[in-house]
Amino acid sequence: MATLAFWVLFLAFVGAFAAQVATRVRLITAAPNTFSLDNLPFRVARFILDVVLQRRTIRERPAAGVMHAFVFWGFVAFAGYTTVEFLYGLGIADQTHAGWFEAYRRALVPFAAAVLAGILYLLVRRAIVRPVGLGDRVSVESVVIALFIATLMITFLLTFRLEDGTPAERANWWAHMSVILAFMALIPASKHFHLVVSPITVFLKSPELGNLPNLDFEKEQVGLEDVKDLGSKMRLDAFTCVECGRCQVNCPAWGAGKALNPKKIVLQTQRALLAGKQETKLGEIYSEEVLWQCTTCGACENQCPVGIEHLPILIGSRRGLVSNGDAPGYLGAMYNNLERRSNIWGLGYDQRAKFVQSAGLATFDPAVHDVLVWLGCAGSFDADFQKSLRSLFSILRAKNVTFGVLAKERCNGDPAKRTGNEYMYQELANGNIEDLKAAGVKKIVTSCPHCVKTIGADYAKFGYNVEIVHSSVFVEELLRSSAVAREASEGGSLSGERPGPEIVTYHDPCYLGRYGGTVDEPRALLTRFGADIREPERNRDNPYCCGAGGGLLFADKEEEPGSRISDVRFRQLQATGATTVVTACPFCSIMLKGAQASAGADTQFVDLMTFVNGKLQPRA
Ligand code: SF4
Ligand code: SF4
Repeated sequence: MATLAFWVLFLAFVGAFAAQVATRVRLITAAPNTFSLDNLPFRVARFILDVVLQRRTIRERPAAGVMHAFVFWGFVAFAGYTTVEFLYGLGIADQTHAGWFEAYRRALVPFAAAVLAGILYLLVRRAIVRPVGLGDRVSVESVVIALFIATLMITFLLTFRLEDGTPAERANWWAHMSVILAFMALIPASKHFHLVVSPITVFLKSPELGNLPNLDFEKEQVGLEDVKDLGSKMRLDAFTCVECGRCQVNCPAWGAGKALNPKKIVLQTQRALLAGKQETKLGEIYSEEVLWQCTTCGACENQCPVGIEHLPILIGSRRGLVSNGDAPGYLGAMYNNLERRSNIWGLGYDQRAKFVQSAGLATFDPAVHDVLVWLGCAGSFDADFQKSLRSLFSILRAKNVTFGVLAKERCNGDPAKRTGNEYMYQELANGNIEDLKAAGVKKIVTSCPHCVKTIGADYAKFGYNVEIVHSSVFVEELLRSSAVAREASEGGSLSGERPGPEIVTYHDPCYLGRYGGTVDEPRALLTRFGADIREPERNRDNPYCCGAGGGLLFADKEEEPGSRISDVRFRQLQATGATTVVTACPFCSIMLKGAQASAGADTQFVDLMTFVNGKLQPRA
């Protein structure tokens, strides 16, 4: 009788679970396939770190992360126990009195205690402390799930106090098993569905941050226009979100009071899919205004603990808008410049030629030169950044590195790609690839982190692979391995005297620190020459964006809703107390200098190469 009753309960709840899961699986499998399993060793290593060891969950919020890890590890440890109890309840097999099971049950006691502590901590955090990233309202379903998990642990621990076969023991068993079944029926429609799908989502997440596969124009791909265009990984992502708000609190646009909230983008996708809004325009689901507020800094997907990728949705939707002629006006002007003059400012190439000539730069020849220096749009046309490049040239010459430049460069295409103008990006990229191949380039050095990312990672999607390094990496290696650098590290200096401590703060550019993982080399260069670095809030591989990326360098600052992202970052840098800010990206420099001018502050901005070169010069 008891077995029959348990079967009825089991089929009812498992049926409810299966029906909800089937709906989600149908929505995912009906989508264009965007799953990929490239770079398997990386995926396996990341799975071990982020799923098994819960690295990403713990890293940003250590206390909550460890408590979450307790709950996760407890779930895994209890899997065998739950299976045996189900087999017993369904009358299939009874191992509950086996010796091995008794030993296993006892081994679970510390796990039960850890899960109980973890879930109570998380319950208090969600229901009472309520950090801003978790949303305005207390989630009732979260409270119910937390109470379910606590009940499971308490009923498990009670099995050691209750005598086998007594009414109390039977009632406890039924309570335990009923809660498991109710829990199963509840999770697919809640954020706790991540328990089921997040290991898969983490495994399927691209190894490349901000991965934007090329559009195939021969297949008439134009980007994402309607909900039905969302690919399978985007849909899986939407059903994986645990609503932790890490993406939200790390988003510079949200932090500056704009409407964009990456968590909301994921949840809006989920709601649109479940509501069957397949034909609805994505601009209506997210709002077009929001889609243009993203700087493509990558903080959201880098912080997400469950493998969700926001940028394919955000940039994919921009592609759809651009293909319909719906880009904002300021981008129209930039696209015109790229089309007519192949650079973002629309300036004539005679200006670049003048700089090349005055800086004594030779056209790259693989038989003569060690490396090619890629100037980029800023290096070709921005007088301020050209000073920084002259510093780089001076360092390279001092270290006997031979280098040349291309006779002509186009913009690498990053502003076109990240604003969704894929056609223009591919035109620029293919032209550059042709020229780089024709010039026989094997290694590129550049001071622009966007060029590193685009030429290094995005051009590889055309099958073109070239080594490209940021000047901070190249120069640091150069000085470290040179006799002169040894002299400096032994207490002397390249100028004959080690300068006294200079208090500086360093702003990590998103495309260098977060995308490229280059965080140690710039600091090593600064400290080698006597800098005392005061780290700002948000640094290293999780910096706060300057606000220039994703085409926003060109946006009308007066019309920006909320605060300016650059102003927020400038205040964070100012708060360090340092009067010198060192940057390593031309666009960060432009944005932050603009913020400094608005604030009327006397902070000094120095590009990293200028800082290094200044210390290398013999002093009078
Ligand atoms: S990429 Fe950066 S700006 Fe864009 S949504 Fe993510 S965190 Fe926000
Ligand atoms: S997208 Fe990721 S980081 Fe953002 S709320 Fe969802 S789970 Fe958290």
